[in-house]
Amino acid sequence: MSEPYIERRSEMFPALNPAQLDRLARFGHRRSVPAGEIVFDQGDARGCFYVVLSGALQVVHPADGREDPIALLSAGEFTGEINLLSGRRTLVRTRMHMSGELLELPLEGLRKVVQGDADLSEIFLRAFVLRRLALIGKTAGDAVVIGSSHSAGTLRIREFLTRNGHPHAYLDVERDSTVQALLDRFALRVEDVPVVICAYTKVLKNPTNEELADCLGLNASVDLSDVRDLLVVGAGPAGLAAAVYGASEGLKVLVVETSAPGGQAGSSSRIENYLGFPTGIAGAQLAGRAFTQAEKFGAEVAIARSAVRLRCARRPFVVELAGEREVKARAVVIATGAQYRKLPLEGLSRLEGSGIYYGATPMEAKLCEGQEVIVVGGGNSAGQAAVFLAGKGCRVHVLVRGPGLADSMSRYLIQRIEESPAVTVHPRTVVKEIAGQDALEKVRVEGPDKSQWMPVRHLFLMTGAEPHTAWLRDCGVALDDKGFVKTGQDLRPEDLPRWPLQRSPWLLETSVPGVFAVGDVRSGSIKRVASAVGEGSTSVHLVHRFLAE
Ligand SMILES: Cc1cc2nc3c(=O)[nH]c(=O)nc-3n(C[C@H](O)[C@H](O)[C@H](O)COP(=O)(O)OP(=O)(O)OC[C@H]3O[C@@H](n4cnc5c(N)ncnc54)[C@H](O)[C@@H]3O)c2cc1C
Repeated sequence: MSEPYIERRSEMFPALNPAQLDRLARFGHRRSVPAGEIVFDQGDARGCFYVVLSGALQVVHPADGREDPIALLSAGEFTGEINLLSGRRTLVRTRMHMSGELLELPLEGLRKVVQGDADLSEIFLRAFVLRRLALIGKTAGDAVVIGSSHSAGTLRIREFLTRNGHPHAYLDVERDSTVQALLDRFALRVEDVPVVICAYTKVLKNPTNEELADCLGLNASVDLSDVRDLLVVGAGPAGLAAAVYGASEGLKVLVVETSAPGGQAGSSSRIENYLGFPTGIAGAQLAGRAFTQAEKFGAEVAIARSAVRLRCARRPFVVELAGEREVKARAVVIATGAQYRKLPLEGLSRLEGSGIYYGATPMEAKLCEGQEVIVVGGGNSAGQAAVFLAGKGCRVHVLVRGPGLADSMSRYLIQRIEESPAVTVHPRTVVKEIAGQDALEKVRVEGPDKSQWMPVRHLFLMTGAEPHTAWLRDCGVALDDKGFVKTGQDLRPEDLPRWPLQRSPWLLETSVPGVFAVGDVRSGSIKRVASAVGEGSTSVHLVHRFLAE
């Protein structure tokens, strides 16, 4: 059988030595398997982990009636990729190729090993991550998206899958000649796009993120009925940090996330000022690593689950989720962050995703390669977007309401903008109108001495943030005048009419004891990845104190 991953085979499919096998053996049992037996199949959830002791195990990716080979594992080599740790459905099929013996570990056994054995943990995590990246690279998942680059729904779905690291194939109705045959096969019309063919069988027309997550089994192993020690709402850097520290310190932690792990940071093309990454790190990469780290320590992350209400009249706290679900916890960390402000422009929501964007990632850069783009805003994220897009071959106009960038942007970004011939800064200039039928076609901008229509098809809005705090309204969590959550010493006596304790609220604690707020959602927070991570990890110390109170 040929193997497609020859170049990185030794890192992706390392063989364990006898001492490592001995350490693993006490977490599982040996099993004789005849040739031809399917050990686990695509779609199985909460699968076991297998090490080949003798014989050979074939790994294939079943797609559309055929089997694409992935690897042939021999003695010492093992199964698994990222999905295994979270108990999600497997994307591949394994079949015993040559009869022999396997060491079988249940998921709990594998989790104990990755938490307690640093040597094996490193080998498994590296192999699992590389295997996932290879599956993404080959789009060897279980989902096919049929869409159009002019449709906001398509962009949302692709962003959701990409940001969740879920491999998928994409077919564009305008560009791909095979699409019509596929649509006919599923009795679909071009007007039905975006369409997702989930697990190669189920057809979803313009599904919500929640429907998609359910269909793909992204939350298959999360049981919402368990009462958790700590519920973290939001899986941006702050929430993931709370999850990593909470779970690693023995708390039962559940994170609920509306969209995908990483939050705003996940949409950043490159974060250059986060400690320990001198050459920068892509936001998606940082998010992926943090997510894996949280799961490694046993935190559970429920994807496409939005908190819609916090009920705090009784203990444990109850957080209601969209879709009439709820979850209970003894302590809550609010880490719901903030979202970029929208401009009051007619037609804005219609053109979102079709020329209007709130983040500049490689996906958007690909859409506007070689073209003129406008970036609105004078803060660091506008600066990063401008530098990134210029580096991808775009001609970038940065529109700033004020007289220049100096007040609002880091010096290193201003310098790069000044040095880039592809970026032009337009001070005291604003967007007045946008136009376009199915996609953005032109933008009217007004500067100090003229107003003009620019034939620009890509507009990046980076104009400040609004907090995600509407879901807190019933619980009496005190907010500041912009809607950010007040904590610690910022809480005035009038914010605490129902504070029941002798002590004052701790640092990061809200006006409700046991409910903490971290990261961008917190009033007065510094809007940076490092501060969000710092606050998320600090909050866990306070959660321990609260639970012991
Ligand atoms: C494009 C861009 C570039 C940036 N670059 C940098 C940089 O280079 N350096 C730097 O230090 N900072 C940078 N930042 C800022 C940094 O990303 C943020 O400060 C940081 O992400 C804040 O983290 P957070 O976890 O507090 O919130 P967020 O990142 O906003 O995450 C909040 C999460 O909560 C989820 N959520 C919201 N409401 C709900 C709900 N009701 N239920 C469940 N989940 C919910 C959201 O989907 C989101 O995933 C950048 C921001 C952007 C947008």
